[in-house]
Amino acid sequence: MDWSTRLFRTALLAVANRPSLEAWAVKYGPKLGADRFIAGTTAAEALEQVARLNGQGIAATLDYLGESVLEPDRAEESRQAYIGLLAAIDERRLDANVSLKPSQMGLAIREELALNNIRCIVQEGKRRGLFVRIDMENTPYTDATIRLVRQLHAEGLANVGAVIQAYLRRSEADVMSLTEAGINLRLVKGAYKEPAALAYPAMSDVNESLRRLIRMRLDSGVYTAVATHDDAIIDWTCEYAKRRGIASDRFEFQMLYGIRTPLQQSLARLGYRVRCYVPFGERWYPYFVRRLAERPANLWFVLKNGMRG
Ligand SMILES: Cc1cc2nc3c(=O)[nH]c(=O)nc-3n(C[C@H](O)[C@H](O)[C@H](O)COP(=O)(O)OP(=O)(O)OC[C@H]3O[C@@H](n4cnc5c(N)ncnc54)[C@H](O)[C@@H]3O)c2cc1C
Repeated sequence: MDWSTRLFRTALLAVANRPSLEAWAVKYGPKLGADRFIAGTTAAEALEQVARLNGQGIAATLDYLGESVLEPDRAEESRQAYIGLLAAIDERRLDANVSLKPSQMGLAIREELALNNIRCIVQEGKRRGLFVRIDMENTPYTDATIRLVRQLHAEGLANVGAVIQAYLRRSEADVMSLTEAGINLRLVKGAYKEPAALAYPAMSDVNESLRRLIRMRLDSGVYTAVATHDDAIIDWTCEYAKRRGIASDRFEFQMLYGIRTPLQQSLARLGYRVRCYVPFGERWYPYFVRRLAERPANLWFVLKNGMRG
């Protein structure tokens, strides 16, 4: 990543949590092109998109958008929404699971509250034979998130999994211990603004770290999701799995809704497992800003739409 891209990314992530900007963006969002990345504001709209993806041989993970919740009632509302979502996936027999953010479940209020909310969802998932992925947020939440996934897994809830961010210097040790516990992981590069003391600032180091983590996981045989749109990493993973005789049902590729759709389709056609991350809901703004920060060209797309409207 060159210095101007890094500056752009830092500036965008710094404004991501400004309530005044959020209110403005939510009002003009669809006109700005947010619907390219968000599958609608209601579960019904998102479920339609999941059915469409399933028709193309692509599985989904549904994310009811929300994060940094500070009121227990809102965490409770999100918990209920996820319980309803699991029922809808099951009843419609969709090839889908769910992803949720611990801070949406109350982690910023009290760890115990988030643990209890998430436990209810994972238990409901288990009852319906559905998997629940706990997304990884920024580093103030890393330890608690790993702790709660380990706790639920130790309670016999094998349908819960975590996410590990390759940009964090600690991730190799986390992958090692979570692999020993047999926990399903999604590996990503990492989407938040983190200090250099905790995260590699250079993209070349992040890429190298991600390859190292993928290698560890594929060699271990514990089911792994490789979540990236990076051609080089995807090609390398396919090549590595082939060379080591790792069956293509031991891992899956994951990509975000609206990003590199033709690549998702072509990997599915080649027989790889592909899962699309499908976010929906009214609280799409922080997610949207992270997508803009990943790629400066996205901001031009938004500005162009805004000027046209
Ligand atoms: C399924 C899934 C789940 C994720 N869950 C988490 C999580 O829990 N925690 C977390 O911190 N991060 C998460 N992320 C985000 C991840 O950390 C990265 O920020 C994001 O995937 C971009 O990195 P990349 O691996 O695609 O590689 P990059 O090197 O950033 O991008 C490679 C190529 O992909 C395309 N691309 C990447 N991003 C965009 C974009 N926004 N718009 C358009 N094109 C783009 C471009 O062609 C780019 O050249 C998730 C990502 C995915 C795919």
